[in-house]
Amino acid sequence: MRFTTEERLNELIAYCRSIGVFVANPHVNCLEDGGRFRADNIQLRPSKSTIHAAPESGQDDQLSQTGGDAMKTWIPDARNFAYLTWKQVDALPRESTLLVLPTAAIEQHGHHLPLATDTLINNSARQCARAASCGVAHLRIATVCYGKSNEHIGFPGTLSVSAQTFLAVVRDIGSSVVASGFRKLVLYNTHGGNTSLVDVMARDLRAEFGLRTFSLFGSPDATFDGVSKQERTYGFHAGEIETAYLLHAAPELVRPDEYTANYIALSMSRNC
Ligand SMILES: [Zn+2]
Repeated sequence: MRFTTEERLNELIAYCRSIGVFVANPHVNCLEDGGRFRADNIQLRPSKSTIHAAPESGQDDQLSQTGGDAMKTWIPDARNFAYLTWKQVDALPRESTLLVLPTAAIEQHGHHLPLATDTLINNSARQCARAASCGVAHLRIATVCYGKSNEHIGFPGTLSVSAQTFLAVVRDIGSSVVASGFRKLVLYNTHGGNTSLVDVMARDLRAEFGLRTFSLFGSPDATFDGVSKQERTYGFHAGEIETAYLLHAAPELVRPDEYTANYIALSMSRNC
């Protein structure tokens, strides 16, 4: 359902709540300690004045961090599954080796962050660190960087796949992992729009193939000190935390001169 104005959407949500109907919105999330927060497209609406020129030829070489990847990554070559030969894979202790399948998105991230924000965060995350410290052999499969981002369709640059496509891709990779003799797969997701699908697939892969699956989202152990109360309550997309990740990992891709802060959710919260 599409709404032409925020007011109309708020009216309808308020009405539904008044008659006891639960309203689901892709931008409304439950907080662990209770309560809900939301952000709205108006917060992220593209501004016509912020169109930038495409990089000149040759500049895209700067995006490669290691190994000439199409997408900047901080995964050491030695942990990059796709860099192995099949003979090297065949020699791995496949019963115990942990494979990590990252899932992310290419979608709008406000005025100041690149489309690949969720993918870059995933590529920079140290989710393998614990496995390494426990002595578990682990390798990282190439990231599924296209996710279910239809909540951002309409913003130029968002490249979304359907739920069916996403599930099929993850399922087929899981099937291939089993066919290669592996028994353990971590699904590591950094895009909220994929979360439900990853949870479904973690169970399905376990049921269909007997694969031991582990579903991780974001940075479960991270504490985000210094995040503003407003951001902590209402922000979750292209906000302080994602910006901080990118400023740390790829500052050259952040545009500080384009920062915006529009907590439209404040007006909504007064109605709740
Ligand atoms: Zn994001």
